[in-house]
Amino acid sequence: MARVPVVGGNWKMNLARPAARELLSGLRERLGDVDGVEVLVFPPAPWLGDAHDVLDGSRLRVGAQNAYWEQKGAYTGEIGPAMLQGTASHVLVGHSERRIQFGETVWETGRKMGAVCAAGLTPVLAVGEPFSDRRAGRTEDGLRRQLIEALRTVEAMPDGFVVAYEPVWAIGTGEAATPEDAQARCAFLRTLVAERFDAAAGDAVRIQYGGSVNADNAASFFAQPDIDGALVGGASLDADAFTAICRAAAAS
Ligand code: PEP
Repeated sequence: MARVPVVGGNWKMNLARPAARELLSGLRERLGDVDGVEVLVFPPAPWLGDAHDVLDGSRLRVGAQNAYWEQKGAYTGEIGPAMLQGTASHVLVGHSERRIQFGETVWETGRKMGAVCAAGLTPVLAVGEPFSDRRAGRTEDGLRRQLIEALRTVEAMPDGFVVAYEPVWAIGTGEAATPEDAQARCAFLRTLVAERFDAAAGDAVRIQYGGSVNADNAASFFAQPDIDGALVGGASLDADAFTAICRAAAAS
């Protein structure tokens, strides 16, 4: 089955509003009518409305970097997935920075996945092993646990579901996985999705690689059969670099 590649730009906690709007405009100019790749932009939460307004009518889609597992209520500082409707189409769930720096557990990631799906938004589920698991040969066990727990509350394969394989040791370090290693992990994740739902779901799910992807190495990942795009951190803050990555995906 031909899967349309998907590239996401995770801006993390970067850019003041004027710079965010400038980057959004630059992306719209360069990628607004892009074909052959789905492009998602994940700005910081205060700029989600700006992203929606600047990108409205283009082919670029807006995603939130995080959301809570309740839709509304007395949860100071949190954002219910339903509140994102009309502004964002996607939500990043389980990024390793949430898991490690904010102590998000697999149970919490599972609740968030359920809430995002219930709100009719598309989840981009990030999973990935820390270096200690890799060294101990526990990568696949860890990925299995993260994926299965995250999908615990999800009955059917979410429409447009995206999984991002992001080895923790490759994020923001400049030390990307090798394309072959990333391919093996992405293929493994695809078999897990097929096991959890069915063969058609395994075939349809798009699996991104993330971890120090840049304009120079992106094409080597996109040439792999089970890698359907990238989740990009640092390089997504540079309009030219991010555009080059998206174009490489579209050409793959
Ligand atoms: C990320 O934040 O998901 C990421 C992959 O970051 P970077 O591209 O900077 O490694």
